[in-house]
Amino acid sequence: DISKIETGQLEAFNQKLLLYDFITKLYEFYKPNFNEKNIDFSLKLNFTDNAMEIITDEGKLNQVISNLLSNALKFTSDGNVELGCILRPGNLTFYVKDSGIGIDKSFHNKIFDRFRQAELEITRQYEGNGLGLAITKGFVELLGGEIWLESELGEGATFYFTIKLNVFKSKDTNPDESDVDEVKVIDEKQYKILVVDDDDESCLYLRELLAKFPEYETVVLTSGLDAIEYVKQHSVFDIVLLDIKMPDVSGYETATKLKVLHPELTLIAQTAYAFYNDKQKALEVGFDDYISKPILPEDLIRMLNKHLQIGL
Ligand code: ADP
Repeated sequence: DISKIETGQLEAFNQKLLLYDFITKLYEFYKPNFNEKNIDFSLKLNFTDNAMEIITDEGKLNQVISNLLSNALKFTSDGNVELGCILRPGNLTFYVKDSGIGIDKSFHNKIFDRFRQAELEITRQYEGNGLGLAITKGFVELLGGEIWLESELGEGATFYFTIKLNVFKSKDTNPDESDVDEVKVIDEKQYKILVVDDDDESCLYLRELLAKFPEYETVVLTSGLDAIEYVKQHSVFDIVLLDIKMPDVSGYETATKLKVLHPELTLIAQTAYAFYNDKQKALEVGFDDYISKPILPEDLIRMLNKHLQIGL
């Protein structure tokens, strides 16, 4: 992982995640480890919306929190540990606060370097290779956030990190209260592409293909209904690559609804059989263009460049 992070080969996937469910399950999973050491382990959330779904890389988020909890467990012999998740407009802030041995201020800026162990004399008694926090920091950055700590030697430690908040769906649709939906995304990626296809292999293929180009940020969804719901909340896409044949709501119907929501959105149909009729119908219902499956990399890039006016 560390060499992949350093060579920029690791990428974050965009997946739907039920936040409340995720964090409570993680908490329950770790609880027995803390109980065993007689550490009081608690969870603090500032939201109650258990239906809220966000878009993030679940595996990496899980790994980051797990690394911080493992350290808290390792460096705390009694007392308490708190896992927190704070929903803010624009980001999610997580923290792991422990009452353990703490970390001297002079080590704070080195602690995320690889192979760093705060004080060899003290921590030699604890197992570890000093890579955990370097990997953790790399993952946090892939998730669009930052990591930092507050601690003093002997006073416990609190590790904070943020991730970019991308709400897919929240229960709260009342505009007065839905400040969470006013997501300000700090983004170096220039173009946002939404891929909608019910076929897992096609999704994976397009995701991997687009990930090779740093200017594209790709969100992949597997149904027309999800796409409509998502675009309703995020009008941020430049291009939607929509499969025509989907089981719940067809690509044609999805396209019509998306165009009503955002007439300026560029819609490209993925037509499976390249039948002339499919293409004609696609243009009639409002698609701006079509591309035939199997999609060749050079064709897709040419198509995207054409509509994004890159190189023109
Ligand atoms: P390791 O795999 O050796 O634990 P990490 O990168 O996770 O490596 O941590 C590096 C060092 O940071 C640890 O060896 C320890 O000295 C210090 N450290 C990390 N988390 C804590 C914590 N919660 N309390 C005290 N020290 C910590």
